[in-house]
Amino acid sequence: AKTQRLDKILSNMGYGTRKEIKSIIKKGLVRVDGNVIKDSSMHIDPCESQIEIDGEKLVYKEFIYIMMNKPQGVISASFDPRVETVVDLLDKKYQIFNPFPVGRLDKDTEGLLILTNDGKLAHELLSPKKHVPKTYFAYVEGKVSEKDIISFKEGVVLDDEYMTLPAKLRILKSDFISEIVLTIYEGKFHQVKRMFEAVGKKVVYLKRIAMGDLKLDETLDLGEYRELTEEELNTLK
Ligand code: URA
Repeated sequence: AKTQRLDKILSNMGYGTRKEIKSIIKKGLVRVDGNVIKDSSMHIDPCESQIEIDGEKLVYKEFIYIMMNKPQGVISASFDPRVETVVDLLDKKYQIFNPFPVGRLDKDTEGLLILTNDGKLAHELLSPKKHVPKTYFAYVEGKVSEKDIISFKEGVVLDDEYMTLPAKLRILKSDFISEIVLTIYEGKFHQVKRMFEAVGKKVVYLKRIAMGDLKLDETLDLGEYRELTEEELNTLK
């Protein structure tokens, strides 16, 4: 396992700046496995050792997993000098984990976004080989029909000549503005919008409602988020 400096561990966990933490440690308020430690630079493995501050036992987490109901107007990135990002929406106590969004939703797309600092899980969810299904709800300009269901099932050719994998289209309402649910098993740039363009229609509202077996918690308002439960996390692994 990985060892890190004691002061770094505590500042990463949000217990103050390195300077503040050094002073707490000097005062003899920090114990590691029961022993008072006065050396801030001591290297310990936070997953193996029990750290206490002023008698309070810390629960160390290496990874954080957050589900967000992404609003429109923010971008799926960690940092941007001009535009608000999904990470900017998080409380500082989560930002200290350096989470990043797993994949991208367009600026004008809403819905389920996972944020984590677990690079391995992110990689697996995004791996083209895994074909993790992603399900979207959309309003589409134009009457979506049975013919489109068949086209999406067979694959459509996008504007860059790419032929999509079979996708499942369900029509909730076929009208001048149709309502649909679409499940895709890959994640090309602007894929849902471009698939509808390929059949001569236009997505006017897009929301992701599921990724793998993980469903968006509909009690989360736009911009709200929460940590995944153990059970939800297991559905992704
Ligand atoms: N497909 C799109 O076109 N946009 C998204 O944000 C996600 C999927």
